[in-house]
Amino acid sequence: MIKPSGVGFNECTRDNLQVVNLDGTIAPSDHKPSKDLGFHLDLYRIRDDINAIVHCHSPWATGYASAGIEIPCLTVQTIEKIGRMPLIPLSKEGGPQTDVDISPVFVDPSVKAAVLANQGTIGVGKDLMSAQYLAEIIEETAHIAYVRDTLMAAHGKTAADLPQYGTAADAQAAS
Ligand SMILES: [Zn+2]
Repeated sequence: MIKPSGVGFNECTRDNLQVVNLDGTIAPSDHKPSKDLGFHLDLYRIRDDINAIVHCHSPWATGYASAGIEIPCLTVQTIEKIGRMPLIPLSKEGGPQTDVDISPVFVDPSVKAAVLANQGTIGVGKDLMSAQYLAEIIEETAHIAYVRDTLMAAHGKTAADLPQYGTAADAQAAS
């Protein structure tokens, strides 16, 4: 099932959601499936653990990706729930990312989220709520990273001035 093209998330209903087979066959409908159907299908094909994908164009995360900056996994929540959020640049032709650009990143089963330059975010999960949860954490983390980086710049600090997550525990474990 995928969102129809040109229909907002909150306008989705039982009647306009598009039913598509894994082989790409689209069930008869008055709408067209999202333009991103290709990469959605491919992600379901390459990973058995992916049962839901939330792709959205959330502004803070997309801003980071469009600046060519990977969003740092800096909150406890992001470190535990996501681990890392690879940045996927525009396609070789300079257009929107397709399965050719996206699937190689998700072949790694530890990847649960990624950010597409000039486009948006992808969160995947075993069900829709887990994928949605990741999409929300990605956006929240980008917002927090922006606030942190802006404050650090204003106060003349760099990341080297800050304690790094886990380093105290690592030091303790090593001693
Ligand atoms: Zn998109």
